[in-house]
Amino acid sequence: MMRGLAIAALLMMALASACQHVPAERAQGPAWSLALHGGAGVIERASMTSDQEADYRAALAAAAAHGGDMLARGVSAIDVVEAVARLMEDDPRFNAGRGAVFTAEGRNELDASIMNGATLEAGAVAGLTATRNPISAARAVMDRSPHVMLSGPGADAFAASLGLDQVGPDYFFTEHRWAALERALRAQGATPPPRPAWAPAPDGAPQSPAADEPSRGTIGVVARDQDGDMAAATSTGGLSGKRWGRVGDAPIIGAGVYAQNGVCAISATGAGEYFIRLAIARSICALIEFTNASAQSAADALIQERLAALGGTGGVIVLGPDGEAAFSLNTPGMYRASFAAGEDAPTVAIFADE
Ligand code: ASP
Repeated sequence: MMRGLAIAALLMMALASACQHVPAERAQGPAWSLALHGGAGVIERASMTSDQEADYRAALAAAAAHGGDMLARGVSAIDVVEAVARLMEDDPRFNAGRGAVFTAEGRNELDASIMNGATLEAGAVAGLTATRNPISAARAVMDRSPHVMLSGPGADAFAASLGLDQVGPDYFFTEHRWAALERALRAQGATPPPRPAWAPAPDGAPQSPAADEPSRGTIGVVARDQDGDMAAATSTGGLSGKRWGRVGDAPIIGAGVYAQNGVCAISATGAGEYFIRLAIARSICALIEFTNASAQSAADALIQERLAALGGTGGVIVLGPDGEAAFSLNTPGMYRASFAAGEDAPTVAIFADE
């Protein structure tokens, strides 16, 4: 009898504390919302022309508007993050899909992940070389395999077996990323690999939108739909000049991506080795879930304090329980945008002081 009462009391306490994690009044917010990023790093006004800056702002606004339009039409968060991530993967400005950085051997090896906050299902791929849209391969791992993560040729073969677009290495090749690899290797005293035979003929002067930040970048999208479901997606080419099958945080669930309904949707960008060690995305989410921290203070605790203390650099985009967007970065810039129901147009920012 006493035991039964004690268990009932414990259950009541557990229920009460579960309710405390996401108080109803915090779970209102806009009818839908999204945020996205196109990578963080040494992105400074002085290293961009005004045309380059305007070009980036337009691309970020267009991607956010596309996602906002889908959410306004009632499309699910998981479909929206995949669709917007695909758009950004296809855009050679960003280090993901077409426009990815090169490995030291002169290849493109792509990582991506996706998470559905409604179910806590997740999918990830690492080291793809032939699948046009790595984010859709990650989605297929989540939806159509019993696994969470696939890597290398097996992951490409899995994607191909499901009919996902496969492309030759020339598809991913961009002049500005090739030039960045050559610069980076020469700076290390290493000899760049010969220009690949399959590379398109040089198309004139290399165009690097942010010439001083050639070495990394990522894209990420987080969304909350009209049902309150949350999702997150992250996709990257990783670090320029990476070796030995290096994999960063982008495809690691809990490091570069996390989503949990009523709590958070997060995508990260930065020096992946630090983001993995701090389990940044899940740690931010846990702070929100267990301490009731705001999305902004949770993000700042990890990025401005923990990451900085370890010597890591980068940033995150976060949607909190109410769908409000928060950004935190400890780099000079992060390409980013947000858009929510009731707003006329996306808000776009690049530099840290915006
Ligand atoms: N996080 C990515 C990686 O470590 C790179 C970046 O976001 O800049 O692969």
